Amino acid sequence: MAARVIDGKAVGAAVRARVREEVAAYEAEAGRVPNLVTVIVGDDPASEIYVANKHRACEEAGMRSAHHGLGGETSEAELLELVGALGRDDDVDGILVQLPLPAHLDPDAVVAALDPGKDVDGLTPLNAGLLAHGTPGLVPCTPAGVIELLRHEGVELEGVEAVVVGRSKLVGVPVARLLLAANATVTVCHSRTRELAATCARADVLVAAVGVPELLGADAVKPGAVVIDVGMNRTEDGLRGDVEFAAAAARAAAITPVPGGVGPMTIAMLLANTLQAARARTLGTGPRRVGHTPLE
Ligand code: NAP
Repeated sequence: MAARVIDGKAVGAAVRARVREEVAAYEAEAGRVPNLVTVIVGDDPASEIYVANKHRACEEAGMRSAHHGLGGETSEAELLELVGALGRDDDVDGILVQLPLPAHLDPDAVVAALDPGKDVDGLTPLNAGLLAHGTPGLVPCTPAGVIELLRHEGVELEGVEAVVVGRSKLVGVPVARLLLAANATVTVCHSRTRELAATCARADVLVAAVGVPELLGADAVKPGAVVIDVGMNRTEDGLRGDVEFAAAAARAAAITPVPGGVGPMTIAMLLANTLQAARARTLGTGPRRVGHTPLE
């Protein structure tokens, strides 16, 4: 294998250690610690694991957290009422409604009801619009984690050719916006893209956020590229990314593994966003400029 394997666990741990230090400084100044509230509707086992990990990470960073587990039959009106109440609660800094929601609930309506200042997943129309506008706001955690990994690895983004595969509101589009803000030349591919592999093979920085196990093989990787694999696909052979790891690693300069690449960054950036939200709400410190991750 030629590629350097990017250690997301180590970078995530470094971000978390820094958040911990900054939480202590925040506590000294504000007389309180940031408070994240999570909401799960139904009993999706993967959501339960993700949320439990988020609470553990909050505790390790010196933050408080609380959880609302709602039954799978919860109505949209009931969920919107809870989200509204959390928005008005002066002791809550971050609200995270774990997706996916049961089919009878409209995720767009629920996300739109979040207080944008507490929207630590960066998904409200206001925060998405601010990102599109290049104005400070709360940036979605996984995309912020992708940029933090690239910066930590010292990857040059200015002027490089970046290709993002996937255009979801959660990952693909915000990653593309952040890469553009970092002055990369950005192409976004999706399910209708013709010549997918050939387009990817132009990339100096390739970000895969698709959800199809090992969709991208060696022919999609330019020799010397940096490959960031956001995909987390459960298969009979275990967790797989969107990139064929061994084939891509033989051509790339650096690549993230799955697991242990982007995954650990998502929780780290959630902590950073919660701290940022707490500071902005209680101390009036504005968020950082778009294109910089929350800790810069
Ligand atoms: P999503 O909402 O399903 O979006 C997938 C995107 O991929 C869509 O834009 C879709 O195109 C595109 N696509 C699907 N099949 C394709 C194909 N054959 N060729 C090219 N493009 C194709 O998924 P997501 O929420 O963005 O998540 C993407 C992946 O990242 C998943 O594996 C997810 O589990 C993972 N993820 C990981 C983390 C983490 O912390 N590591 C966090 C979030 C997500 P259309 O728009 O045309 O349909």
